[in-house]
Amino acid sequence: MRLIILGAPGSGKGTAAMVLKEKYNLAHISTGDIFRSNIKAQTPLGIEAKSYIDKGQLVPDSITIGMVAGRLEEDDCSAGYILDGFPRTIAQAEALDEMLAAKGEKIDAVLSIVVDDEIIKDRVSSRRVCEKCGASYNVKYKPTKVEGVCDACGGSVVQRADDNPETVAARLVTYYENTQPLIDFYNAKGLIVEGNNNVDSDTCISDIENGLKALGV
Ligand code: ADP
Ligand code: ZN
Repeated sequence: MRLIILGAPGSGKGTAAMVLKEKYNLAHISTGDIFRSNIKAQTPLGIEAKSYIDKGQLVPDSITIGMVAGRLEEDDCSAGYILDGFPRTIAQAEALDEMLAAKGEKIDAVLSIVVDDEIIKDRVSSRRVCEKCGASYNVKYKPTKVEGVCDACGGSVVQRADDNPETVAARLVTYYENTQPLIDFYNAKGLIVEGNNNVDSDTCISDIENGLKALGV
């Protein structure tokens, strides 16, 4: 099964992706996580990406598309994957179509996570993430058992540098300009499955499971 998960920054798409990857035994490909681990390791890719990420802008397609193309060649992708944070532009979506077509493959469904803007702003400001495994926490709604320590892996749980109010506002603008149009792009292909994440992630996941069944995936 090959899935894409789309949603505004802070919509909970990363959390939903983590649940779905276990349920359907998929590789989880988060472009944000790949950029962040490159930033931490100070690779040339990380240094370049950081200048965009810190401003809430997209890393240029020329960098991102090549990075994902390489990742999709890795062994764990052959059994299926969930793309989290890619594509984020129409150009990326078209490049992905070409990559897949060259291998005789296709995307089975595109999961669209729906959340109100006000809820996003509230959740993102109190979000924390594990530096090691990417698990997401929230100091208000889903704290770690021990402050600053990941329940799942013991890694350190920190606030992302781009989770400050100014950068979040810029990321939302970027999302509506560049990424929201992908919903129409994939709707036209009949691939969209919606998950409502305004209430909680269980509701969102069951929406998605029902939607996938309805699509016959
Ligand atoms: P969120 O969806 O919460 O903004 P991500 O972890 O998916 O967080 O992405 C963090 C940042 O990484 C984005 O704001 C953007 O700068 C960069 N990024 C991630 N994926 C892409 C992509 N496909 N194209 C361009 N930039 C990307
Ligand atoms: Zn962890």
